[in-house]
Amino acid sequence: MSSKFSYILLLLPSVMLLSCSPTPQMNPPSSDTALNKHPLDQSEYRRFVLDNGLKVLLVSDPRFNKSAAAVHVGVGTLSNPKDRMGLAHFLEHMLFMGTEKYPEVDDYLNYINENGGSRNAYTTEDHTAYYFEINHQAFEGSIDRLAQFFISPLFTEQYTEREINAVHSEHQKNLESDSRRKWQVQRSFYREDHPANTFATGSLETLQEVSREELLDFHQNQYSANRMSLTLLGNTSLDDLEESARLYFAPIANRQLPPVSYDPVYLAEKATFRLISIEPIKELRSLELEFPLPISLLEHYQSKPASVLGSLIGHEGTGSLLALLKQQGLATGLSSGGYDITNDYGAFSINVDLTPKGLKNYREVVRLSLSYIALLEKEPYPSYYFGELKSIAQLDEIYSNKGEGTGYASRLVGQVADYPLAVAERVSYIFDREDPPAYRQLLSFLRPDNMIATLMAQGVETTDSEPYYGTQYSFTEDEAFYEQLLEVVPDPALHLPAANPFVPRQATIPDRSQRDDVVPAKLLDEEGLALYHVEDFEFLRPKVTLHYKLRFSTELMSLRRKVLLDTYTASVNESLNELSYPARIAGLSYSFGSGYEGVYFTVSGFDESAPRLFDSVLDHMQNLRLSEERFNALKDRIVRDFRNFPKQDAFRIAQFYNDEVLNRLNYRPEDRLAIAEELTLEDIEQFAAELYGQVFIEALVHGNISDAKAIELTRKLQEQLGVQTIDRQSTFTQTYLSQPDPEEFVRVEKLEVNNSCFWREYDAGTNSPHNRAIALILQGFMRGPFFTEMRSNQQLGYIVWAGPSAQRDIFHLYFIIQSSTHPADILEDRSDAFISTYPELLRALPAAKFDALKNAAAEEIKKQAKSIAEKAGKFNRLAFDFDGDFARDQKTLAALATITQEEIANFLQQVLGTETRSMRTTLALAKEHQAAREIETSFEDLEQWKDSRVYR
Ligand SMILES: [Zn+2]
Repeated sequence: MSSKFSYILLLLPSVMLLSCSPTPQMNPPSSDTALNKHPLDQSEYRRFVLDNGLKVLLVSDPRFNKSAAAVHVGVGTLSNPKDRMGLAHFLEHMLFMGTEKYPEVDDYLNYINENGGSRNAYTTEDHTAYYFEINHQAFEGSIDRLAQFFISPLFTEQYTEREINAVHSEHQKNLESDSRRKWQVQRSFYREDHPANTFATGSLETLQEVSREELLDFHQNQYSANRMSLTLLGNTSLDDLEESARLYFAPIANRQLPPVSYDPVYLAEKATFRLISIEPIKELRSLELEFPLPISLLEHYQSKPASVLGSLIGHEGTGSLLALLKQQGLATGLSSGGYDITNDYGAFSINVDLTPKGLKNYREVVRLSLSYIALLEKEPYPSYYFGELKSIAQLDEIYSNKGEGTGYASRLVGQVADYPLAVAERVSYIFDREDPPAYRQLLSFLRPDNMIATLMAQGVETTDSEPYYGTQYSFTEDEAFYEQLLEVVPDPALHLPAANPFVPRQATIPDRSQRDDVVPAKLLDEEGLALYHVEDFEFLRPKVTLHYKLRFSTELMSLRRKVLLDTYTASVNESLNELSYPARIAGLSYSFGSGYEGVYFTVSGFDESAPRLFDSVLDHMQNLRLSEERFNALKDRIVRDFRNFPKQDAFRIAQFYNDEVLNRLNYRPEDRLAIAEELTLEDIEQFAAELYGQVFIEALVHGNISDAKAIELTRKLQEQLGVQTIDRQSTFTQTYLSQPDPEEFVRVEKLEVNNSCFWREYDAGTNSPHNRAIALILQGFMRGPFFTEMRSNQQLGYIVWAGPSAQRDIFHLYFIIQSSTHPADILEDRSDAFISTYPELLRALPAAKFDALKNAAAEEIKKQAKSIAEKAGKFNRLAFDFDGDFARDQKTLAALATITQEEIANFLQQVLGTETRSMRTTLALAKEHQAAREIETSFEDLEQWKDSRVYR
């Protein structure tokens, strides 16, 4: 029995998982006890349905850092009235604009901001979700506020008009997003009488003059308690959580609305090859094969045929579809998977990133994709593969970090809505039974007559323009090619994946007593190396995290070497790809990348398998296994990323311009591009051969691992790479602009995109524990007022941000607005007028609110890491960015205790005041925007200007 299985794991700290675990016959648990959990896992669950039909799942866990809630309403954009595209999404926005009980606009947002929280919402085809996280003591107040969305929304006329602008701004922000442009063209090919043929976001045109009545109508005719699900995650008892759920959510009206049902066929079968060709904005090359699924995948949660199939077709190891496409020089990446769109239908898709050769021969890519599907049809049901996925899921259920906050709450509420309430929280771990017929049925839909292909690349032939986004596209049908596709057989180079070598053979709970006061010790401190190690006593998981940073000498940080370094790290990742894919499936993760200060290398996962992956990465760091063709495909991708730089969101480009001033060393994409274009595989191999000539290693090893083993792995890294050591002082360290005296720096840039951006940063001194305490208070205080004024009241744009930030030792306050309607200098004028009111706003804050902010700051400092990997990341920062000051949090807490409201008001006066401020402003103007006034920039030659400043 399944409960016996969990007992074995709980009582015996050492258990052979794969070899001796009985096949658990997992009937849904009848009580609230989870089946398999770690002995330190104190989470408890309770589930019930309120009298009004609302489904509830409660999670109580004393170790949660934040409380969280999520609401799922089973209605989305597919329920838009035909003449009101975007209404479901618009209503989602309007629920934030006040309720009868809490009539003030942004009351909910401000309450959450002031109490250390965050919130969001989204609308999909078949549902709308609202979720937030917040400090525990403010949980009840926020539950009450959220519940009122569904009881008594105001839909005030004044804000209805204004919020249309916010949604329109959101659409303007999306206008140049190639993925959204593609989705909209694809939707227009779905059956005209099916709601899937819709425009989801809404815009000024589609939402013009939406009345309060229309919103009330939609709310009354579509929102109903029996279409809703709720999760509450808190650190109080299940009884307390249940009381809140009943008190605040029972008043939601049950309008007895049946679940929305949909015609399962959104795209009819047709005996031809259907191809949509799209001209993208960015330099992209992709092919998507979409297979509509006129069935629900949800009922197959015990056998998960879509996970098995998606993981096989998307496999990147030897014998996989991607490996063959790469070998033939046709592709650089691939993803695949099946998903539900509604309870009645879904889709399966294969997405391929093409090389120039792959674009020319896209039909060969289609043919090979179907060839892999033909292989799956011929092969028996892959029972061994199901077994691997099941083993990993079992390990994950016991040992993984389940998460907390908005991420966990919103994931759970989706599971509550879609699956039996009895298994809602553990549905992703359930691999109860193999179901070959369900697998075969799913496979049977992956046919050429049940397929529509989308090719996206610059220069494809187009004939039409899509009305909502203006995307250029064409549509063709080809019967002759279709006939060929019917004849496709398995290619001899394709085969199913071999047994996964990274699946742990055993996993045991470390036999130690729990403590959470252990900090890293410096094991090695010598020329060329600093190694910190700390054994885990807090989580008692059979897991490790290894952090390595390889720093190079200052004179090696030239532009050319930076481009070589970035291309080299990308090459190592490409070389590792066939191997890292099964590792990722088996719960390991690794990252290998580069920054200005050198190479970053992290491996994380089960203690048994992580060292094996570590060895493989070491091997590929030295011996790249890349053909000329694969390297060129990779280079093409890197070069296109640089070329696509000016076509990104305006705020990202403005951020680059800001960082270029802030960071002492910061190379421009266009300069990097020129070098990257010329690189050859030989250049990279040569570079790799001498790269580790002079290195200083910063290492931190954390988890279920001894100090001897930590030293052994680190020595292996030194030896295998043939590292020649240098001292820490000779390595390059990035420094940041420090503006101690009043100074106003301005730069103006013209963009190629349709949004302007205002980006402002104030120098706020050093990142000391005292200033960090101030920053944490300001984090809760600054965001809300700027958002309410600039977005809700002045409707300048969809992206409106304000808050504190830090770069190692430098501390800033930032204000950012992206706008499709206002040029950047107008954004600046409006911002300046408002920013100047901040000191007074803070002075005027009621004492109770200030105390709440202070309390939220203390909670933020006391926040506990949730996993070994997260804790290792934190230790690593403290070890190397803050000189091993592992008591920094305690110092910040002590500083926080003494800070007064008056002190912060004075601080804001000093930092933001026009006489005393030191600041950087980037005004990035959209291609259609003209500055409204003359603007003087602060420099003629930026490098010269930087040479004359202080960086530290
Ligand atoms: Zn929105």
